[in-house]
Amino acid sequence: MITLDYVKSKSASKLSGLHPVVLAATERLIERTYAQGVTIIITQGLRTVEEQNYLYALGRTKPGKIVTNARGGYSNHNFGVAIDFALLMPDGKVSWVVNDNWMKVVGIAKELGFEWGGSWKTFKDYPHFEMTFGLTTSQFRAGKQPSQAQISEAYKKINGEMEDVEKAKVYVNGEKIEDGFVLEGRVYVPLRAAGEAFGAKVNWDNDKKIASITK
Ligand SMILES: [Zn+2]
Repeated sequence: MITLDYVKSKSASKLSGLHPVVLAATERLIERTYAQGVTIIITQGLRTVEEQNYLYALGRTKPGKIVTNARGGYSNHNFGVAIDFALLMPDGKVSWVVNDNWMKVVGIAKELGFEWGGSWKTFKDYPHFEMTFGLTTSQFRAGKQPSQAQISEAYKKINGEMEDVEKAKVYVNGEKIEDGFVLEGRVYVPLRAAGEAFGAKVNWDNDKKIASITK
């Protein structure tokens, strides 16, 4: 069983430089897909203009397949508001096969407010998600930033109904794990994170709504 920590660690280096809202959404995407039994890896986050120009050259002035229609400075990756993902297989390999699990990720990403590159008309970019707050790439190029209202709107989607719930920090043997929350005088702790921190196996049967912890 792959742990959430392992899954997160595989993507950690690609998350730096993302817009804070996009970062929060991406972390949530990794957690929510994991909770549904799908493990993903973020293969691209922020890209420099030079990196973008290199990718643009592929299949044009450099050998290879065309992977992007955007020159340096014209991709939302250049502004930290786009990510690419792939499926992380149990053996640690990465898969780009667009199957049911892939579409499960797409569904969760859309709920979080991401736009999916796979629904674009001209160039279908199946691994690509972006969150542009209604701004165009040229507005980003001009240095325009999302408004406070757009940012809190985005956070609402990311945090869902949990937004108004009081958070609880949870430590297992002094190590901080995923946050829990307080509801009607009771502290709720994320079962998988807590169970695994104790070295137990946690299984969630989504059809029967049964959680089981085995040690
Ligand atoms: Zn992309």
